[in-house]
Amino acid sequence: MKKFISLLLVALLTLSVFTGCGDKEKTNTGGENIKAEDNNSKENKDAKENEKQEDNKFLCSEKPITLSIFQFIQTPFKDDYAVFKKAAEMTNISLKGVVSQSSSKNKEAFNLMVVSGDLADIVAWDRVKIQELALDGAFTELDDLINEHAPNIKAFFEAHPDIKKHATASDGKIYHIPYIPDGEAAEAWFIRQDWLDKLGLEQPKTIDELHDVLVAFRDQDPNGNKKQDEIPFFTRGTNRNRLADFALLWGAHVGASNLWYVEDGVVKFGPYEKEFKDAYVNLAKWYEEGLIDKEIYTRGKTARDYALKENLGGMTHDWFGSTSGYNGKVDIEGFKFVPFAPPANVNGEIKERSLRSRLHWSGWGIASTNKHPVETIKYFDFFFTEEGRRLMNFGIEDDTYTMQDGKPIFTDKVLKAEEGAVAAIRKYGCQLATGFQQDFNYEKQWMNPVAYEGVKLYSENKYFMEQFPSGLPYTPDEKRRFSELFVAIETSLEETTQKWVLGGEDVNSGYDSFIKTLENFGVKELIEIQQTAYDRYIGK
Ligand code: CA
Repeated sequence: MKKFISLLLVALLTLSVFTGCGDKEKTNTGGENIKAEDNNSKENKDAKENEKQEDNKFLCSEKPITLSIFQFIQTPFKDDYAVFKKAAEMTNISLKGVVSQSSSKNKEAFNLMVVSGDLADIVAWDRVKIQELALDGAFTELDDLINEHAPNIKAFFEAHPDIKKHATASDGKIYHIPYIPDGEAAEAWFIRQDWLDKLGLEQPKTIDELHDVLVAFRDQDPNGNKKQDEIPFFTRGTNRNRLADFALLWGAHVGASNLWYVEDGVVKFGPYEKEFKDAYVNLAKWYEEGLIDKEIYTRGKTARDYALKENLGGMTHDWFGSTSGYNGKVDIEGFKFVPFAPPANVNGEIKERSLRSRLHWSGWGIASTNKHPVETIKYFDFFFTEEGRRLMNFGIEDDTYTMQDGKPIFTDKVLKAEEGAVAAIRKYGCQLATGFQQDFNYEKQWMNPVAYEGVKLYSENKYFMEQFPSGLPYTPDEKRRFSELFVAIETSLEETTQKWVLGGEDVNSGYDSFIKTLENFGVKELIEIQQTAYDRYIGK
């Protein structure tokens, strides 16, 4: 309690002493003096004030202050990031990272900080975790701070109620300003177009056509080495995600990102729905027929690299950018690996499972021990201004980008960087998963033309499925119970689906006992918890 009273005092003092972005005018143009002066000098003074205000437009603190930050979503925060140095010039707020550069495990570093009880002033981390700690008083409630000091965040939330909902904790309050990704496209179906051409086939549009194409890849020696060595479908996905996109063709939701879904307001758990059985009957059959990589569960992360470079793989489902990147890099004559539209599912619908959701799990919050909550929220707000957003997306003008026709265009220093554009820009501190809005134009500029066409195809046709919200606002009890139940259910799910695909158990004979196992592990309670938290999320 004492901590919070003193915090309140600090907050009140801060409010009265400091002036920032929005409040500048009020304090600097004291009324009495101006009234006593003649019109002419008043105008001069106003002009000067305006100039000063223009310079100080983004100032969040009258005097320079330094705040500590825990930011370790990609790599530990570096104090010399050019982006944050520039932000410091504009806002008067500098950041100092608290994670050692030699630290390699971010979750461990975060837990260590929490256990020490000494939180950084700003913590960039998982929204759900921050909300959980906030309910114990470790993070500052941001609602009033936003209303009073963060006009840009406020306007953003008003314009995007879905994101505001996403940022709201189970007690109805906001403790976390989210990172908002832009551009929906994530993964796609890819196929060896040169193989299709060679065999006189079209890109498959239905499940039957998909089956026929994979059979042709298996039997007709498209790589031309006179051996039946082709791997019709391969994937470097892990766990159930390996075959999640196939399963979806039969209407089953089994991947990590689509395990949960909603129909008419009712939360559904993919493995507990009837489509699940049908999907695995077919997957086991296709596996047995040699259409799916025989080593799908053992080949691991290098599967894509191996299958493409060895001229063996015909089809996969993977990320747009990196998968398109094999074109021009693989030393195979005529090699053309292109994204194609998802084949229609059993109901004739064309749906893509993956989506880069704007509802991301990361962002930043303000520790209760931070002595400058007002300045900090103003600083957060800066990144929601046009200038702040550009800084985070594109870096430093005339260095990483130049303005052309009012748009930031990356320089060759970024576009032709040996380490790749993303790595180059990250060195500047750009695109850290903190509270800011990504601008998809950032990525378009270095996108491979093959990927670009695919992204256009998927985006313009709106193939993307609606995503179940990640990290629902659970109460602490719900969260604990959900985790308890889910561990056993997920383990059983992994084991059973693998056994079925590999033919260790016939799906038809094993299905009923699998459902019974789910029920014994409390699947109904699990679904109930999820429904309750989902209803809370949508404000029901
Ligand atoms: Ca062959």
